[in-house]
Order: sequence, then structure tokens, then C-alpha cells
Amino acid sequence: MGLLQIFDPSAKPTPVGIDLGTTNSLVAWVSDGAPTSVLDCDDDPIVPSVVAFLPDGQIIVGKEALAYLYTQPRETIVSVKRYMGRGFDDAETRRERGYQFAPAREGQANVVRFVVHGREVTPVEVSALILKELKRRAEDKLGSIAGAVITVPAYFDDAQRQATKDAARLAGLEVLRLVNEPTAAALAYGIGTNRTTGTYAVYDLGGGTFDITILSLDDGVFQVRSTGGDSQLGGDDMDRAVALHMLALAGQSEPFDQGVWRAAMLEARRVKHELTDKSESAFELELASSAAPKTFAKAITRSELDALILGVVERTGPACKRALKDAGIDGKSLDGVVLVGGSTRVPLVRSFVAKLFQQEPLTDIDPDQVVALGAAVQADILAGTQQHDALVVDVTPLSLGIETMGGIVEKILARNSTIPCARAQQFTTYADGQTGFDIHVLQGERELARDCRSLARFKLDGIKPQTAGAARLLVTFRVDENGMLTVAAKDEATGKEHSVEVKPSYGLTDEDVEKMLLESYEHAEEDLRARQLTERVVEAEQVIAATKKALAKDGDLLDEDERAELDGALAALERAVQARDSEGLRRRTESLDQASVPLAERRMNRAMREAMKGRSVDSVESEVAHARGVDSHVTEHTARREH
Ligand code: ADP
Ligand code: MG
Repeated sequence: MGLLQIFDPSAKPTPVGIDLGTTNSLVAWVSDGAPTSVLDCDDDPIVPSVVAFLPDGQIIVGKEALAYLYTQPRETIVSVKRYMGRGFDDAETRRERGYQFAPAREGQANVVRFVVHGREVTPVEVSALILKELKRRAEDKLGSIAGAVITVPAYFDDAQRQATKDAARLAGLEVLRLVNEPTAAALAYGIGTNRTTGTYAVYDLGGGTFDITILSLDDGVFQVRSTGGDSQLGGDDMDRAVALHMLALAGQSEPFDQGVWRAAMLEARRVKHELTDKSESAFELELASSAAPKTFAKAITRSELDALILGVVERTGPACKRALKDAGIDGKSLDGVVLVGGSTRVPLVRSFVAKLFQQEPLTDIDPDQVVALGAAVQADILAGTQQHDALVVDVTPLSLGIETMGGIVEKILARNSTIPCARAQQFTTYADGQTGFDIHVLQGERELARDCRSLARFKLDGIKPQTAGAARLLVTFRVDENGMLTVAAKDEATGKEHSVEVKPSYGLTDEDVEKMLLESYEHAEEDLRARQLTERVVEAEQVIAATKKALAKDGDLLDEDERAELDGALAALERAVQARDSEGLRRRTESLDQASVPLAERRMNRAMREAMKGRSVDSVESEVAHARGVDSHVTEHTARREH
């Protein structure tokens, strides 16, 4: 009789790290101190982030789902990450990618929904399916798992982070923490585990996105100094360039047959991968024709590939330079450049990065796996399996932010930010000639200041009076290992600085946090509407003020009828502000915009004419911008809204 296997009660479940990527996802764990990816039966660590919904209700995830891209592209979802935390009329949602979306419905949360075979699925559900597949793989290998660290892009906002956590919950995964992808990559290289100090660039070129992050590490505290990138740039663009070239060689011209194009794209990718290690690669194209199908065969060399993709690679340059500039550092002075993303295997990308940053990038760790491996290291630290030098000790239990015009909370540090942590955001003035900023520090998940917990108030004054929107105020939130929050505000023009220390968790029990979380779920819809109304009121007030100012200065440019129409539109909008009528505000603001077109145009002409009388181009531009009534908005976001 065989021996019975007895479950070892002391065997602890393993914590894992997950890279939930746009193109590919991976799961990793720490085995005897070494981070390791979980492999499939082909020894491949990569799970393509693709989910195919079949007509019979079957759902296929990963490599096997790729085949359905060609037979049922609408029901095979790729790059679902782009839709996480997005609403119906988000720019990203409106970009044509061949999916069918459900129409917005009254009383339904503002979340995109894919229509697949008559069924509606949200991005959160699709991501949950990918996470489930990763979880299944990990459990097959490791037995039970003890939660996951999941990585997200550094620029992900609260909604996108929340969506990621919701997906994990749906997948039955406990989220130990969300960690920024560049931070995870740095961790995989051991940066930060021994309280190192330094500044690093993380250059991440994936399938369809490019991200550059400058991270600084100060006594174990990671700080994102700047981020940038292009959400529509990556290896797919290289594939396109190569496919076009191959088809041209084969004497094909646009428009291509759909099937021929897709096959050429696949072949182009294969050739591109092969040329990473070889100097030449042969390809074959099936050319469809009404008569007999024929094939075309030829080879492409590495230098031919380089010439084809140079344009794509060079497009990553400006964002890197800007990020360096924003962080106030030059490439040479960085302590390291970490390469992330499958596309950084391409030799041309490596040499380009070396030239751009004037130093050899770090390439020891597989760029496909580096994020997942770093996430595993973080998971391991959090689970306390290893005696790492405590690097990241806790998370912020609730979001921290400041109040902006109209009583809206701008969250600066998201709930569950790993601490110690710090983040800066730029704000600007609301009114012309404003000389002071009231900084109201708040904690909580709700959208309006009155529903959040007030932590501190302070004033930064002595600001040089300027037109609204011209001043630059840099507000930095920093939470140390002990959960102590410091808020600093700096007027970038005068260098004047003010800071206070606040205890974010003061007086808040776990129950409080729980309750606030519950409330924020219950009130999400209501909050959204309140926020929208407030934003519309603020916008309307700005448009009214700008119009009145323009009329006072250049009212003589209008004839009687035009003037009457504009006055009418102005009064109507003022009434809508009084009535706090959200829909009315939207329509009347639009009407006022319309009615002020003649005035704006003539003011612009007048400004131009005046400018011609020998004034500098700069002052012309600002004058013209002003004439258009383009008054800047209340807040201006740096890193976060760049993407
Ligand atoms: P994401 O972070 O968007 O999920 P990845 O980091 O997995 O994406 O990168 C996917 C991209 O990497 C694809 O465009 C793929 O063609 C490219 N890639 C993967 N391996 C190689 C290779 N050996 N040579 C060149 N490009 C590669
Ligand atoms: Mg990635």
C-alpha cells in the first residue's frame, strides 16, 4: 500500500507577485530567496492578456485565446488594461479598436462595457479572468497562495487602481498591495533593499505603451520624481513597419486583404523577435488571390530592421528628455537605467537608450519578467517570509488630498499607497491677481471636501499677483514610515515654501476606515453627480467672468443684435448657476460659448493688429490666448494627467 500523503499544516501559503500587463501578464514568487516566474508546460512564463468569449459561453484566456483574434475580433479582448477605470466618454474609450460597447444607461455606473455575443462585460471582469488564470497557474505550482502584490503603472489614478483591486477581488485574490511597475522593476534589481540612495530611470517599452519614470530613493523611500511616455507607442508599431515593408517587397499595395495583413503582422513579429538574436531572418508571406494562393519568400537583415523601426524607437526620446528635465537631473548623473518591457530586447532600443542616457542600461534581468519578479520580492517582504531590510512598511489607509475650487477633493496620495511615499502635484490660481493659496488637507475617499476628514489647513501667501492660471504651486505630500504626513507647498516663482506635519490616521480607527469605504461604495454614483455639478458651476463662473471682462474691454466690437444675443446667453447661464441645474449649466455654457464666437474672433483680430505695432511675439500670444477667453482651469495636473 502506498504511503498516504499528509498535508503539512506548517507549510505556509506562498505570496505571489503579478504583472498585469497591457499585452502580457505574469505571476512570480520567491523560491529560497530568489524571485522566479511560474512557467507553463512549454516553460513559458508569459500569459498573453487576451480573453476570448466564445458563442457557446466558453471563455478562453491567454495563448489559446490569440487564435480567436482572427476569427472573432470583436469578442476577443486585447489590451483591456487601457479600459480599466474608464468611463463612457473617456478619450481612450472612444478610440476605435473594433469593439462593440454597450450604450450609457441612466442610473448605471459610468463604466465601459464590452458587448460579447449579446452579453455585457466590464474591463474589471475581463481583467479578473486574466488574474484567475494567473492564480490557477500559481496554485498548480505552489499549492495555496497567500495573496498577491499586483503592479500598476506609476501614473494610474485612483479609479484605475481601484478597478485593478476590484478585479483581484472578483478573481478571489487577496491584494497584499498595489505597487508601481517601475518601483517593482527597481526592486527586482535589489535597488532599495539595503536603504540605498540614488536616482534611477525606468524605461518601459511594451507592446503598445511606452512609459518612462524617474525614481529617486532616499533612505529607503521611493519617490516618483517624474513620469512620461506615450500610451500609443510600442512593439506593435515596429511590427506594423516591418509588415508594411514585407508586403511592399512582395509587390502588394494598400488596401491589403484583411487575412493577408494579419498574417503579415504575425510574421513581422516573428521576424522581429528572431532578429534580436540573429543578423538575418527569413520570412514567408501567403498572398491571397482569387486564383491560386501564392507565397512570397525573402529575408530581412538586422540592419534593415533597424532602419525600419528607427522612427518608432526615436519617438521615445522626447518623453525621456522631458522626464529628466522635470526631475532636474541629466542622464549621466543617474545611478542606473532599468530596462523593462519585451521591446527593450531589441538591440537598437538598447543602443538608443545607452546614447540617450549616456550610460549602459541594466539588462541582467529579463525585461519581460522584471516587473513580476520585483512584485514577488515585494510580496515576500510583506509576508515577512524573509528578513529583508524593512523597505516598505505600510500603506496609507485612506486617500490624502487637498481641496480645490468648488469644494472638490483632488487626491494626491491614493489610499493604499505604500509608505513611506511622496508625491507632488502642481496647482494654479483660480482668480486674476490672487496672492494667496488656502491649503486644506483632507483624508477620505469621497469626492467632496465636506464628506472627507479635514486634517489641516494652512495658507501660503505672498504670491506674485498674476492672471488666473499663471502661478505654479507645487504641493508635495510625503508620508514617512510611521505614517506621519508632511504637506509642503511651494510657490515655484518665488521659491516661498510652507509645510505642516499632520497625523493622517489620528482618530481614525479601522472601523472608521471600513465605514468610509462602505460609504464611498454606496455613494459613488451620487458623488459623481455632485462632482459634475460643482465642476460645471466652476466652469460656468469662469466663462461668465471671462465674457464680462471681454465685453468691458472690447464690447464696442459687437453690433446691437450680437450684443443682445450675448447678453441673453450670459443671463441664461447666470440663472443656471443660481438654480444649480447641472444639465442646464452644460447647455447654457455651450450656448454662451457659441454666442461669444464673433466677439472672440474680432478681439483676436484686434489683438493681432495691436501686436503688429511692434510688440514681442510672446505678448502677442498671451494677448491672443486671452482674447479667446481661454482662461485656465482650476487645477493643473502634472504626472497624472499626462497620459
Ligand atoms: P506589456 O507591458 O504591454 O504587457 P511586454 O512588456 O510584454 O508588454 O512587451 C510586449 C512586446 O515585446 C511585444 O511587442 C513583443 O513583440 C515584444 N518582444 C517580446 N520579445 C521580444 C524579442 N525577443 N525581441 C523583440 N521584441 C520582443
Ligand atoms: Mg509591462
